[in-house]
Amino acid sequence: MAPARTGPFDIVIVGGGSAGCVLAARLSEQPSRRVALLEAGPDVPPSADQLSAYPGRAYFEPRTLWPGTVARLGGAHRNDTTTRPTAPYAQGRGLGGSSAINGLGANRGAPEDYDAWGRLGAEGWSWESVLPYFRKLERDLDRTGPPHGAGGPIPVRRPDPADTSGFVRGVAAAAVEAGVPWRADQNGPWQDGLFPIALNLDEDWQRVSAAQGYLTASVRARPNLSILSQTEVTRILFDCSRAVAVMARGPGGVVRIDAEEVILAAGALRSPALLQRSGVGPGPVVAAFGVQPVAERRGVGENLLEHPSIGMAAYLPRAARAPDDRHHIPVIERWSSNLPDAPSGDMHSAIMARAAWHPIGARLGMIFTWVNQSHSRGVVRALPDGGLDVDFRLLSDPRDRARLAQGVRRAAERLSQAAGAGVCGRPFAVMASARARRFGAPTLRNLAVTGMAGALLDLAGPMAPGLSERMAGAGVALPDLLNNSARMDAFLDIATTGVWHASGTCRMGAASDPMAVCDGAGRVIGVEGLRVCDASVFPTIPCANLNLPVMMTAERIASLICQS
Ligand SMILES: Cc1cc2nc3c(=O)[nH]c(=O)nc-3n(C[C@H](O)[C@H](O)[C@H](O)COP(=O)(O)OP(=O)(O)OC[C@H]3O[C@@H](n4cnc5c(N)ncnc54)[C@H](O)[C@@H]3O)c2cc1C
Repeated sequence: MAPARTGPFDIVIVGGGSAGCVLAARLSEQPSRRVALLEAGPDVPPSADQLSAYPGRAYFEPRTLWPGTVARLGGAHRNDTTTRPTAPYAQGRGLGGSSAINGLGANRGAPEDYDAWGRLGAEGWSWESVLPYFRKLERDLDRTGPPHGAGGPIPVRRPDPADTSGFVRGVAAAAVEAGVPWRADQNGPWQDGLFPIALNLDEDWQRVSAAQGYLTASVRARPNLSILSQTEVTRILFDCSRAVAVMARGPGGVVRIDAEEVILAAGALRSPALLQRSGVGPGPVVAAFGVQPVAERRGVGENLLEHPSIGMAAYLPRAARAPDDRHHIPVIERWSSNLPDAPSGDMHSAIMARAAWHPIGARLGMIFTWVNQSHSRGVVRALPDGGLDVDFRLLSDPRDRARLAQGVRRAAERLSQAAGAGVCGRPFAVMASARARRFGAPTLRNLAVTGMAGALLDLAGPMAPGLSERMAGAGVALPDLLNNSARMDAFLDIATTGVWHASGTCRMGAASDPMAVCDGAGRVIGVEGLRVCDASVFPTIPCANLNLPVMMTAERIASLICQS
């Protein structure tokens, strides 16, 4: 039986995440353009955990997570891909995508990040060309003046750094003592320093996802916009080299949706996979799907980027703990490694008032450090069974390894200073072990078990710091780690993780660049009627959390489409 058929639409957007919601709202502003937004996950109102200013439970929201997404993270220079373990890797699934479950950080990155995109062949991209779109998307509740937006759909605000936990104030004081200056605005001039974190929270300290901000009731009511949730696109259909439709599994079964133009906004893991499954990508990868090759683009799925990250924790006495469910990272430090080749502000340390949502996490403070401008590159491949093979190869570039090791030493130093001031116990290294992951999900069982362990810590008195290290530590003695480079290397191999900033897998570049996938307007090189517009198109990773850069990218590409 032939599949049901619908459309034609002028534009079909695949994926209703950070980029897809922006695209759908902006492209349907012109009433003559018929737009369809297809989203694999549900269209559901945000839960209390998703609205909360503390995002540590939203990460695990089962209704809106892609089930079974796993990735290999570090250790790529030592082992082959078959023996390195995989770990769960969160990705949003549902209207709003990852913006509905993310950590709420709302920052832009360095001007140089976007100037570099232009230099690398992404025509039209520079700080000057992106700034109007950062302004357009945001409604800054604290800062006014030229760099900031006042009327956009996404609120940005900052907590008061004086009104935070004793631990965070103690670590910040240690940084100030070491000569680090306070700065007012993470989205202001690009400088090192301590910043109150910029967050995607509104006047009531509630999350506003891309779906909430952009797909308002009046946008949804537009007769030229169709939003189809629970509709997973399985393939793009081509007539010769022109994209003409997508095939999807929807609530009513398999459906063909015709389009003048298709825009992939399925995220940095699933946009390249869809291209590969549809005949656009490296020849041998495409061959596995038995489809007609459409365009040989070797870069599809390559250049997988992330921010390699590591945590250092310490036990918190009762008086130094976070008082309630406010955001767990009131303050961040941007700093420069000053290593050869490294730009200023190439490192980021979050000073975390609590390490996790549960009672053990509430008794641990943490410095979580990442390489803000990383060089390591991984790869993503679609698998014939419908899954993905994701290998980030974190720290495969020695420049990232050297900087993350510096981050471990710096965090140990800061926490030791804070311990001396009595706001925490002695520091210890942590990692996302299988046990830590088991207690990650906010279930009643996990609450009960960690609640008992937390009570035990409170009763342990002077033994609490050692006991908390036994419960949550990575099992490596800190002096060994700091004084032995081989141990540091081995630790980084097993403990380095990402921060869910997957990007770069369909990167923009010049048509003459064999590894470029899209041009500067997101058009896939070598085919017609097909664009990519999401975190995949980034040529390099910005020195920022990625939600704002993704929404800026969608604002800019939507504007290019509307002007053409
Ligand atoms: C747990 C977590 C925490 C994070 N913390 C922060 C933070 O604090 N600050 C920050 O700035 N960034 C953060 N990020 C990163 C940021 O949220 C993402 O980089 C950004 O949302 C990516 O936007 P996107 O549009 O590329 O993809 P997504 O927002 O992931 O959207 C992709 C959408 O496409 C849909 N889709 C995929 N395949 C198909 C298909 N075949 N058919 C139909 N639909 C499909 C998905 O269901 C999803 O809704 C975090 C991300 C995660 C996951």
